Amino acid sequence: MDITATAPSPRILLVEDEVKIAEFVMRGLEKAGYQVEHVADGVSGLKNIFKNNYDLVLLDLMLPKLNGLELLQQLRQDGNTTPVIILSAKVDLNDRLLGFETGADDYMPKPFYVEELIAKMRVILARRQTAQPLQTLKSVHLSLDLVSRKARWFNVEAVLSQREFTLLQYLMQTPGHIYSRQQILKNVWDINFDPETNVVDVCVQRIKRKLSGGENDHYGPIESVRGVGYRVKAGTFV
Ligand code: CA
Repeated sequence: MDITATAPSPRILLVEDEVKIAEFVMRGLEKAGYQVEHVADGVSGLKNIFKNNYDLVLLDLMLPKLNGLELLQQLRQDGNTTPVIILSAKVDLNDRLLGFETGADDYMPKPFYVEELIAKMRVILARRQTAQPLQTLKSVHLSLDLVSRKARWFNVEAVLSQREFTLLQYLMQTPGHIYSRQQILKNVWDINFDPETNVVDVCVQRIKRKLSGGENDHYGPIESVRGVGYRVKAGTFV
């Protein structure tokens, strides 16, 4: 075993269209031990973030093709929680607040010292690392990543919508326990009366569809108990 091996250096994406700033940031970050990839427009930025698993994104706001705020909005709407620091010459309080509201983790007004940027990055990366072990809910063959909203059932992995995620998370509190439709409606939809719709059933079907069909097809992690409700399968499977 190589005991000198260190943790892989954090992987950063820089989305910046001004060549001089991009070069300056990349030089500083590489010197500090980060792996930096660079793209110069919003569309390439978004594509890269969805394709790769970056530890952090540095995002300019005024960008060709897709501006930084639109990029961030699309990212968060899709449930992607990669940390983002905005780098922008727009320094007004309102611009900064809008950045935070859209889902930025921090805001770095231009011009800046690269040392200060690195300090901010360290705080965010460290926070994410400590939070990591608490981010997964697990039952026997099912795990749920609380940050990316990804669920895994045997070898099938899927990203769930917010509602599907909340439902599965609710059932996973006690695997094997049967939750009634009324309980599910109250806790997942915040509905206290019988709306006489099949929203619960439809949502369960969607989760089953997303998570079945793999090599070990056990028809998904949720079992319906006729006339009673639903439960997450617990125990061993044949
Ligand atoms: Ca720009």
